[in-house]
Amino acid sequence: MASRGATGPARVIDGVAAAREVYLGLKARVAALGRVNVRPALTAVLVGDNPASRIYLRNKMRACEKAGVHSEVLELPAGSPPRTLLATLEKLNADSAVHGILVQLPLPRPLDASLVAQSVAPAKDVDGLSWHNLGALLAGQPLFEPCTPRGVIALLERAGVEIDARQAVVVGRSAIVGKPMALMLMARGATVTICHSRTRDLAADTRRADILVVAAGRAGLVTGDMVKPGAAVIDVGINRLPGGKLAGDVDFASVRAVAGCITPVPGGVGPMTIAMVIANTVTAAERSVAPAAA
Ligand code: NAP
Repeated sequence: MASRGATGPARVIDGVAAAREVYLGLKARVAALGRVNVRPALTAVLVGDNPASRIYLRNKMRACEKAGVHSEVLELPAGSPPRTLLATLEKLNADSAVHGILVQLPLPRPLDASLVAQSVAPAKDVDGLSWHNLGALLAGQPLFEPCTPRGVIALLERAGVEIDARQAVVVGRSAIVGKPMALMLMARGATVTICHSRTRDLAADTRRADILVVAAGRAGLVTGDMVKPGAAVIDVGINRLPGGKLAGDVDFASVRAVAGCITPVPGGVGPMTIAMVIANTVTAAERSVAPAAA
């Protein structure tokens, strides 16, 4: 389903329930690994003391528990030089008991995310954001698809949204969301338009979308008048409003009135992004046992 002629309150795609199903499915795979004495393990690296990063990491560690995946957090002090982070990553890359490595972003200065993108071993890059994995995605041979766009695809599939031969519009062109999202939709047969801050008439583009993915980091950027009736609207944005409430990039009330299905914020893409990190960790563990099969 991508468009359903009649408009009306859109179906809300429940990312929390979708993530729960992913964890249930992973448990069986984790049990199978247990029978050959492998416990999938994710190590997260946290540099500094950003409170938001701590909350994100805590959620990821809890998600690991739900799937039976072992998790650890390695903490480095703020102000750690690049060589300290590099040495930590090299150690984790070489540790056969660690299947997935995650470096929580953003990194405090003087560290730079591109250092991480070049230094995590591709086979353990469960975020899918290393330059190796992004390049492989471009070549159509991804080892791991980046987690947020992978979560978006999983939500579309769960909602029964047809991707093949549909018009998809992605708002945002970052290397972690917009660009890989566009590639992944294109790989599944969509005709894709990418919009960004230099797009002249955003509404003209978004109105053509059967599938609209918004990842701009601008609260309420997309309103109901910018959406094609019946479209599938996926809101990746997470914005903290002045009162402290979280809001997406999509004006939920007005868009829900015209779309066919829509993800909420919170409770949409966020939980599925985390579920995909854990799923990739289990896949990495399976590949460590039977490289060709997983
Ligand atoms: P980003 O690196 O800041 O990129 C934002 C993109 O949006 C840029 O390409 C920018 O265009 C474009 N943009 C900004 N304002 C625009 C406008 N008015 N019209 C059209 N395009 C506009 O952000 P990001 O890392 O991709 O993240 C995007 C949002 O998703 C953020 O709210 C972030 O918190 C959220 N996010 C959520 C998850 C999750 O799990 N749910 C994961 C990752 C990110 P230019 O390139 O021209 O500047």
